[in-house]
Amino acid sequence: MERTALLRSLSCSSLACNRFIFSAPKRSHSFLSKSSAAARCHRRVFSGRSILRRDSWRSLPVAASPRSSSLRFGFNDKHFSSLSARAVASPPKDIAGAGDEVAEKLGFEKVSEEFIDECKSKAVLFKHKKTGAEVMSVSNDDENKVFGIVFRTPPKDSTGIPHILEHSVLCGSRKYPLKEPFVELLKGSLHTFLNAFTYPDRTCYPVASTNSKDFYNLVDVYLDAVFFPKCIEDFQTFQQEGWHYELDDPSEDITYKGVVFNEMKGVYSQPDNLLGRTAQQALFPDNTYGVDSGGDPLVIPKLTFEEFKEFHRKYYHPSNARIWFYGDDDPNERLRILSEYLDLFDASTAPNESKVEPQKLFSEPVRIVEKYPAGEGGNLNKKHMVCLNWLLSDKPLDLQTELTLGFLDHLMLGTPASPLRKVLLESGLGDAIIGGGVEDELLQPQFSIGLKGVTDEDILKVEELIMSSLRKLAEEGFDMEAVEASMNTIEFSLRENNTGSFPRGLSLMLRSIGKWIYDMDPFEPLKYEKPLADLKARIAEEGSKAVFSPLIEKFILNNPHRVTIEMQPDPEKASRDEAAEKENLEKVKASMTAEDLAELAHATQELKLKQETPDPPEALRCVPSLSLHDIPKEPIRIPTEVGDINGVKVLQHDLFTNDVLYTEVVFDMSSLKQELLPLVPLFCQSLQEMGTKDLTFVQLNQLIGRKTGGISIFPFTSAIRGKEDPSSHIIVRGKSMAGRADDLFNLINCVLQEVQFTDQQRFKQFVSQSKARMENRLRGGGHGIAAARMNAKLNVAGWISEQMGGVSYLDFLQSLEEKVDNDWSGISSSLEEIRKSLLSREGCLVNMTADGKNLSDTENFVSKFLDLLPSKSLVERSSWSARLPSNNEAIVIPTQVNYVGKAANLYDKGYQLSGSAYVISNHISNTWLWERVRVSGGAYGGFCNFDTHSGVFTFLSYRDPNLLKTLDIYDGTGDFLRKLEVDDDTLTKAIIGTISDVDAYQLPDAKGYSSLLRYLLGVTEEERQRRREEILSTSLKDFKDFADAIDSVKANGVAVAVASPDDVETANKERSNFFQVKRAL
Ligand SMILES: [Zn+2]
Repeated sequence: MERTALLRSLSCSSLACNRFIFSAPKRSHSFLSKSSAAARCHRRVFSGRSILRRDSWRSLPVAASPRSSSLRFGFNDKHFSSLSARAVASPPKDIAGAGDEVAEKLGFEKVSEEFIDECKSKAVLFKHKKTGAEVMSVSNDDENKVFGIVFRTPPKDSTGIPHILEHSVLCGSRKYPLKEPFVELLKGSLHTFLNAFTYPDRTCYPVASTNSKDFYNLVDVYLDAVFFPKCIEDFQTFQQEGWHYELDDPSEDITYKGVVFNEMKGVYSQPDNLLGRTAQQALFPDNTYGVDSGGDPLVIPKLTFEEFKEFHRKYYHPSNARIWFYGDDDPNERLRILSEYLDLFDASTAPNESKVEPQKLFSEPVRIVEKYPAGEGGNLNKKHMVCLNWLLSDKPLDLQTELTLGFLDHLMLGTPASPLRKVLLESGLGDAIIGGGVEDELLQPQFSIGLKGVTDEDILKVEELIMSSLRKLAEEGFDMEAVEASMNTIEFSLRENNTGSFPRGLSLMLRSIGKWIYDMDPFEPLKYEKPLADLKARIAEEGSKAVFSPLIEKFILNNPHRVTIEMQPDPEKASRDEAAEKENLEKVKASMTAEDLAELAHATQELKLKQETPDPPEALRCVPSLSLHDIPKEPIRIPTEVGDINGVKVLQHDLFTNDVLYTEVVFDMSSLKQELLPLVPLFCQSLQEMGTKDLTFVQLNQLIGRKTGGISIFPFTSAIRGKEDPSSHIIVRGKSMAGRADDLFNLINCVLQEVQFTDQQRFKQFVSQSKARMENRLRGGGHGIAAARMNAKLNVAGWISEQMGGVSYLDFLQSLEEKVDNDWSGISSSLEEIRKSLLSREGCLVNMTADGKNLSDTENFVSKFLDLLPSKSLVERSSWSARLPSNNEAIVIPTQVNYVGKAANLYDKGYQLSGSAYVISNHISNTWLWERVRVSGGAYGGFCNFDTHSGVFTFLSYRDPNLLKTLDIYDGTGDFLRKLEVDDDTLTKAIIGTISDVDAYQLPDAKGYSSLLRYLLGVTEEERQRRREEILSTSLKDFKDFADAIDSVKANGVAVAVASPDDVETANKERSNFFQVKRAL
């Protein structure tokens, strides 16, 4: 994934096997995508494969991020956006397939060919005759072209070979002999996707671009990287990306360093990740899934360079490759490029060696108890986790069964109203659901479900409840309404095919590869219409019980291959692990002679020197790039008509949406009393998940599922440049088929006006869930928490967001938990008060995206909806002139890695915004911080971000072994800029890379939403044009001038770290109590 956007994204997921942090589609608002749960690193990466995964239905902002005053560039960039994108691929006039003759000449034979109606594409499967490499060539008129090459890479141990190799092959190759061609592509290409991922049994290298020239550049760099990487001859790359001993001076202690090593330490600090890994390994003790392809930090240092090289030789071979092309480019050109690489190889035996053997089923269930690192705060006894996991079958399932299982999964767990989810949460036995339901990304499907936040005594009760609920579902079946709601939700999502900013071609590729990688039919997973129709027909004929009950019985209840995992909190584990590592390293040191140590110190220096020496210009020039002439001079305009219905502003965007209507109804939050702000996220959840006088919440939820594509509600806050008062709103997002706009607006009205805040028990669950979510975020996305905290110290909008999604919010939730028991009526009336203060025609705004005719057809429903809204006389704006004290803070949590931030408001010091700031901060991230914080510092990520609305400039690091050292690097940024020498090529690359961010690829709903945000934040078309010109004309002088502005972060900035207690203690000793300590877990 593209670092520039993604490292900046604060919407974090726990994916670690990605080259870069997030599985989330590029610039996905935390809400547009199926990112959230999609990925559990190395366990199952993407929801791409299955057409029926719960995650992919949640294309609306389920986890409505309250941190919407986003620090992300991604969001800021929305104000510029975007290249036009055809919403739905339609068949090209003349579907050009690779001429068979051409293919033959290039050394390929055609294996089969199909027209796939579901994605309006012609797909041809080729085999490269000499090596056996397989190629899927998919042609349609989607301009967002995708290429991917995938190898089967099953590991034999947990040294993380596949993962380290995934990182390392992108560090220079035969044709591109520079340190990191990958980073050069990030800097200077127009990619819409660029990343690599490691799965438990495969490694995947995808790229995407809408620009043909750029696309082929990316393809060539990737092909050269995987087949001819420098890393297999270069021990230092292995050290840098994998692991090495570091010793600056023989008198100091030896430490472990390495990007993957630290990345995985971060992963192993998160209890949910630990649980997922333990479960997978216990379900598959006998095959490759019984080890961790990502690498266990305890095992990674056992990996040798020889093993590493051998792994590449064996598996990164055309005979072991599956290659995917998709889009509107010339299919013959694809084969031509490929043949240049593939022809250089002979067939190998890799396909036999890389086969994944199925796991045989157990005859008895298994139980495993593990400890996880916990903090000392809170009630430790209530921090147990328990999860039941099943391996469903001893072989892959047929597509029809898989689809039916996916459907069953949605019925049981897909929405808050789904019975299994509901009964578990309502039991009060735990705080939040864990386990991913049905997972079918690997050779054999699994099912897992459990709870966290459970007391020791209740563990068995949870297990019994899960089993008895499953038995009950098998006996009684599901309501017709529930089945109908699930069916509509799934169909809607399949037809809408909204992959967020994730390229559609990539989503299809991941779906196809999920079967293809096991030598099954790659076409089949792309076709859902027939199996879906068959399933519907069966349900209609036999009834849902006859369809689903046997599945529950066979695959779950009567299946002895069950693994129960119990995770116990252990407040000493983190420091014990750290002590063990230290002891280990001391032993290593003790075993070394004085010469050894001197040599190690020398090697450490050499590595650093290499890392800090820039590539020579001629090496940099090898990487093909575009010129400024290839860049459109004007920003992409999104059609926007500002009108008025019943006195309310209505924005309409006439865009082709394949008959889907997208809408946002926006309410002004500014008259809300300050003390009510932290209640807002729970208010939003209550609206969506409590019932009305006439409808239970289950009925209301099913109704929404049956009639619409989903409704979600969340707060949005951002500073507005040049204004005191921030923009603070509640946004209701909804979508439906245009023919159901009436239902959509009725349901939005029902949710807003009729839902009653009376269900104390449900509200209590919301609080526990939110608390569990916040704790998770603190461990897995500490950089986001640090950023929010700094923002809260630097501007009002940031303060509001932190109240609704930062450490302050976590504090609030902790106190609220008691209050729900003692003063429910007080809370209930506060929720009512929030509703009163928000719901009003004054301050309301409606945003709609659809085709022109559908827009005009919808107007009278909007008008009806607006008529029903209360009208109130102007209420005064509340004054929230609050900020957190601007001291340096360390938020202490049980972790082995840190998140380190520093920030200041540049506008306060007189900086005037210019578009060049985008280019410069991109450049700082891509060079200075990448090299110092990641490459030589050993952190998984280091980046900066400039919020052009508030003026807050932020440095952040991710899974960082350092603390003060990282702050010193941030402070050196001004000098870095002053000394900077860039030639024209480098400058051009930096500009193109920035434009690629700014012109982010967007589907129509995202375009409409971006336009709405621009409207709310007062970003005009004139300004977008001006910024673009400033970006395009950025000069070296701008970099130098920016140095003074950035020095204000050094001089007046505030630092916040989310860090381990030991590291904070050491830092405070070294720099006389630099951090004020706050314990958060
Ligand atoms: Zn990684």
